[in-house]
Amino acid sequence: MSTPHFDRIALIGIGLIGSSIARDVRELSLAGEVVISSRSAETLRRAEELELGNRYTASAAEAVRDADLVIVSVPVGASEEVAKQIAGNLKPGAIVTDVGSTKASVIAQMAPHMPENVHFIPGHPLAGTEKSGPDAGFTGLFRDRWCIFTPLPGTDQAALDKLKAFWMALGSLIDEMDAQHHDKVLAIVSHLPHIIAYNIVGTADDLETVTESEVIKYSASGFRDFTRLAASDPTMWRDVCLHNKDAILEMLARFSEDLAYLQRAIRWGEGDKLFELFTRTRAIRRSIVQAGQDVDAPDFGRHALDQKK
Ligand code: NAP
Repeated sequence: MSTPHFDRIALIGIGLIGSSIARDVRELSLAGEVVISSRSAETLRRAEELELGNRYTASAAEAVRDADLVIVSVPVGASEEVAKQIAGNLKPGAIVTDVGSTKASVIAQMAPHMPENVHFIPGHPLAGTEKSGPDAGFTGLFRDRWCIFTPLPGTDQAALDKLKAFWMALGSLIDEMDAQHHDKVLAIVSHLPHIIAYNIVGTADDLETVTESEVIKYSASGFRDFTRLAASDPTMWRDVCLHNKDAILEMLARFSEDLAYLQRAIRWGEGDKLFELFTRTRAIRRSIVQAGQDVDAPDFGRHALDQKK
């Protein structure tokens, strides 16, 4: 696939994800012009200081005018509002995509507002950190990470291929599935781990018998790895929970059952059951490292990631 080039790209939302896309587009010269929109003057000013685009406007409607590619990177709960704002100004033939962590809800919010003559192709890059805002982005965030598309029936193949080529230029590995399946998969690989992390850190914060300074002092024993996830953006994760409710509740039910099994094994001193589970899970970690989705370092590769920025 040849490297795609767009005359004008509009980035609606310029936080961690939007600004990482902007940095890659700039570095790889994937667009003639990049127009950036964010709702707050502060974020917009910061994007300009970082020279993430060529033009800056608080109006999403203004930003998408004449754009060939529009990428919406806002919390999933804001998708409908943005769709309504941009719908009337989209260029015929434009590709409109998003990066939201839930897909069925984003489609339900955006698709009804999209004009017939644009190509609306929902997407989700499975890459990120716990940081937010335009300063948090960096070039190469999407390299060797999956980007999943959940195209609607009847999607124009040429438009889909062009969008895939764009993400491949950013270094992404490409996959395609339906939105419901995406939401189930993400519920287990991303949403549940974040909810568990928020919960465990919340529990530690509520303990009366262990002091906060002890939790922090001894955190390298395991707690620390949960705190990274639990430091993720509250708005984004509130929206993910509210917009992937069914799949998350289904996975939480399974999780609770399995936790009860573990609880029982501990209570009854069933070491063989514990050992069998811990051996199985250790193998999964090895597979993740072998698949190139993390490095085999004691800090889960976070140090290496920080150095990349
Ligand atoms: P972020 O750093 O917090 O940036 C959010 C952007 O959206 C900012 O430009 C913000 O504008 C704008 N925004 C916030 N609330 C809005 C609203 N109600 N209406 C319109 N614009 C609004 O977020 P992010 O991490 O880039 O996440 C963006 C999207 O990517 C989310 O849908 C998330 O699910 C998805 N995603 C995130 C990750 C991750 O690890 N973070 C990974 C993959 C996908 P102001 O700053 O001007 O208010």
